[in-house]
Amino acid sequence: MSSTKYIFVTGGVTSSLGKGIISASLATLLQSRGYSVTIQKFDPYINIDPGTLNPYEHGECYVTDDGAETDLDLGHYERFLNRPTSQDNNVTTGRIYQSVIVKERRGDYLGKTVQVIPHITDEIKRRMLLLGQNGEFEVVITEIGGTVGDIEALPYVEAVRQFKWEMPDDCLVVHLTLIPYLAAAGELKTKPTQHSVKMLQESGVQPDILVCRTEHHIDDDLKRKLALFCNVKKEAVIESIDAETIYAVPLLMRNEKLDEIVLKRLGLPHEGKADLSRWKDFLYKLRFPTNEVRIGLIGKYVELKDAYKSIAEAFIHAGAANECKVQLEWIHSEKLNADDVEKNLRGLNGILVAPGFGERGFEGKLEAVRYARENNIPFFGICLGMQCAVIEFARNVLGHKDANSTEINPETSQPVIHLMEAQKSITEKGGTMRLGAYNCELIPDSLAHKIYKRNTISERHRHRFEYNNAFLKAFEAAGMKATGINPDNQLVEIVEIPEHPFFIGTQFHPEYKSTVANPHPLFTAFVKATIEHHNSEK
Ligand code: GLN
Repeated sequence: MSSTKYIFVTGGVTSSLGKGIISASLATLLQSRGYSVTIQKFDPYINIDPGTLNPYEHGECYVTDDGAETDLDLGHYERFLNRPTSQDNNVTTGRIYQSVIVKERRGDYLGKTVQVIPHITDEIKRRMLLLGQNGEFEVVITEIGGTVGDIEALPYVEAVRQFKWEMPDDCLVVHLTLIPYLAAAGELKTKPTQHSVKMLQESGVQPDILVCRTEHHIDDDLKRKLALFCNVKKEAVIESIDAETIYAVPLLMRNEKLDEIVLKRLGLPHEGKADLSRWKDFLYKLRFPTNEVRIGLIGKYVELKDAYKSIAEAFIHAGAANECKVQLEWIHSEKLNADDVEKNLRGLNGILVAPGFGERGFEGKLEAVRYARENNIPFFGICLGMQCAVIEFARNVLGHKDANSTEINPETSQPVIHLMEAQKSITEKGGTMRLGAYNCELIPDSLAHKIYKRNTISERHRHRFEYNNAFLKAFEAAGMKATGINPDNQLVEIVEIPEHPFFIGTQFHPEYKSTVANPHPLFTAFVKATIEHHNSEK
């Protein structure tokens, strides 16, 4: 018998119901009762990972310490649980088929016909069990991407059916569904949920718990009705009412006793209540800030806020740490030029230039850097944002008018950002960037050193292009210092302008490591600088 318990989270009726948040909230409740929990996500698309996906398709690509490019839900898992995830926490159909096909080519199937059942479902089950096998986790939550009824989700639902059949005492299924409110009728409607549960049942899966997303409270009668039609106990019909912040969801789920019902059903001790006192402190600071600042986020995907998910969440953590409401202004870099930058950015207390790829909106980002630098507005550049800071400085301070990144202009005479030697021969796009955690040494007395209070840090990367050390001396002499250096290859990872009140650019992505329990020090310090800017403007 397995000692690890497995919880599957499926979704019905519509996408975007927040399976990731429900999974993370349940995990948070179990963790705060002392259980060691991890969450994994299975995505039914054929890409090997979301690294090659345009953010318009799938929002931000999240990066783990071990360099996996993953679904953005893994960011929620880390932010809620304060525990790193890895390559093993995100599996796609592409990856499942890839391993089955590799085995087929090796001859592992000994002449058998390779089929969805059992070969693909066996591989899915193997991956479902993987994280539970080294004894590290008592509970593994598996979020099944997509919506029940999707053709591409069928093998996953079938794998869950088999899993339940094989290990009935060690797993359960939570089905997340929608109870729409029909304004014209003035009523909450249960039929879509009944249908989506029927669809699961047709595949042989009986959900144990229903989590019902709703805009209005679900009364006892409605719960009774759902229980009756869907074969679940009434106490296992959980209301998940819209919350003002995702961080309130663990508390809502605790009030609905989701954790208690899950533990009972899995035969685990369920006495007492989850201790959420630190979580509540954070929520209190989030809800009752004593300050407010406006920070401009300059990017090219601003109409799609999911593209910068981890940055937005890092600001929520850092805002709470400073007891300050961070009003993020999403500013399209394509719309910025030298003539209107002042009009668009005036009044901001801080400017963050976002990561990104390609030429679109690039010049606008340079204008934003210039405005922040010349007007002493706190500045934070991340990845492409850092590269923009370097290029802007080269053009407008060093006077290298042609300075550029070879990503934008391969023919530039001043390639201040260029491709690393190791990257030059690479032609494949998937998984070939500098990815995952790298060490970085901080120069004493730098702003970065003051913020981190450490000599060596480890941060996550996702990029191809790098600071060109041939220009290092010229930059330093003119006032832009390299204050974070990769000890293994001397690459510049952080730049600063000490003359400026707060100007920092990082080649890595600090936003991936900010959590509720550990707001990222760079974001916390940046927000603090914006508060000082705000106060000095009064
Ligand atoms: N396009 C840049 C590079 O590849 C920056 C990438 C990023 O911002 N994540 O180096």
